[in-house]
Amino acid sequence: MALGVILNRVFRTDNNPLFEYVYQNIEDIDQCYYIIPKEDFGNEAKMKRNYYYGTLQKFVHALYENDIQPFLMDYDELVDFFKEKGINEVVIAGDIMSYHKEEYDILHQRENFKKEDISVTTIRANHYFKPSKTRNNKGEPYKVFTSFYKKWRPYLMKRTVYNYDIKDLAKVGVKSKQKLKGDYSQSGISEETAQYKWSDFLDKDIEDYDSNREYLPEVLTSQLSIYLAYGVLDIIQIFNDLLDGYDKDEQNYEAFIRELIFREFYYVLMTQYPKTAHIAFKEKYQNLNWSYNEDNFDLWRKGMTGFPIIDAAMGELNTTGYMHNRMRMVVSQFLTKDLFIDWTWGEEYFRQKLIDYDAASNVHGWQWSASTGTDAVPYFRMFNPVRQSERFDKKALYIKKFIPTLNDVDAKYLHDTYKHERQIKEQGIELGKDYPKQMVNHSESRDHVMSEFKAME
Ligand SMILES: Cc1cc2nc3c(=O)[nH]c(=O)nc-3n(C[C@H](O)[C@H](O)[C@H](O)COP(=O)(O)OP(=O)(O)OC[C@H]3O[C@@H](n4cnc5c(N)ncnc54)[C@H](O)[C@@H]3O)c2cc1C
Repeated sequence: MALGVILNRVFRTDNNPLFEYVYQNIEDIDQCYYIIPKEDFGNEAKMKRNYYYGTLQKFVHALYENDIQPFLMDYDELVDFFKEKGINEVVIAGDIMSYHKEEYDILHQRENFKKEDISVTTIRANHYFKPSKTRNNKGEPYKVFTSFYKKWRPYLMKRTVYNYDIKDLAKVGVKSKQKLKGDYSQSGISEETAQYKWSDFLDKDIEDYDSNREYLPEVLTSQLSIYLAYGVLDIIQIFNDLLDGYDKDEQNYEAFIRELIFREFYYVLMTQYPKTAHIAFKEKYQNLNWSYNEDNFDLWRKGMTGFPIIDAAMGELNTTGYMHNRMRMVVSQFLTKDLFIDWTWGEEYFRQKLIDYDAASNVHGWQWSASTGTDAVPYFRMFNPVRQSERFDKKALYIKKFIPTLNDVDAKYLHDTYKHERQIKEQGIELGKDYPKQMVNHSESRDHVMSEFKAME
């Protein structure tokens, strides 16, 4: 048999279920083509593209070191390649959600393969739970996180699932002479570095996870979202490690595990309700009268809303490709509530910018904030950006980190710039000239949100 192994963002040599599949079937394999389909990012997502290619390049090097020389091609070249090489069976990670374009998902790819009679084996490589096995007693998917968590948390257990030796897999591998063009050595992450950072997090920061999670000036959380987005670490290994260390500090370990189960929950929802990628999960909110004001959207996108906490967070996203979880909640509420702009615009912008982009977590994160999702924040519990700033960035360290123009202004004036316009001016910053004035009045926005949502009840 000639087998195609599609390493679609499962960029790891250790604990890789696609490699385990080859190992389990090695007797039947004459030729094995290891293939990395490259994603296309267009012009919009430069930082994300570089991160992706940097990670891909590091993975290719790791494969070379193990005597595997993978084939690199665009997604739309896959089928022709299979035909040319006589490959009639492929194995692919079925749970890798789209990173940039939906047509890269197996949901869409499968159709192309089917037309050419290429048989497809899908393997879960990036999630712990199998969606079809996580239904409730009525056979329906869980729609409330707490019930999902209570039911499935006890099923987490230490598992040993990998037996392969990568050297054996190289023996059946057909070697490609292709090289990845360009030098991305300054971007991305290698499997080795990710392993090191993860161990470091387990050694130190996890024991303060609950409080660190809300600390803004620095990122003290795990950044696992980035490693998982590229499949450089294995979720089974992660849960094994967490269960190993659990007794050291149950409270913080459990808080961390809970977040990872959130990720599983959103993944299950997305597979059961794929349309929610574009439309409100709650049917009654599918026809909300959203705004599509491009000027307002632009101000939000560029971090020029006049609310320093919002603008700092957008600065973090635009300059680092990452944003703290708290701030993802705050800026998404600002866009969907204070500006009442359709959440899909924000989701799309995050898609272009986030290096840890994950369709399920992003879509459902946005739907949570927009109050259109399952289990979402009720529309009347709208975040006030000034209160959020006072509470989570009291000393304005985060604000000043991402908006250096405001460095010399006292922190206490930076949460509500409208109220402190005079004091801010006395400290050298004229609103409307050196830094924007607040673009909306929060309490007027609140009235608007109330009336629009009530109209749908
Ligand atoms: C509007 C919005 C958009 C988001 N978009 C994404 C996205 O594109 N990709 C992404 O991975 N996460 C997304 N999240 C979830 C969360 O913000 C990130 O997972 C988290 O900030 C990543 O940092 P970390 O790995 O250091 O998190 P940690 O706090 O160290 O958490 C560990 C892991 O738990 C999971 N996790 C944590 N919080 C959440 C959450 N709220 N929802 C789902 N899983 C969670 C992630 O896998 C994360 O890596 C989004 C949240 C919101 C509100």
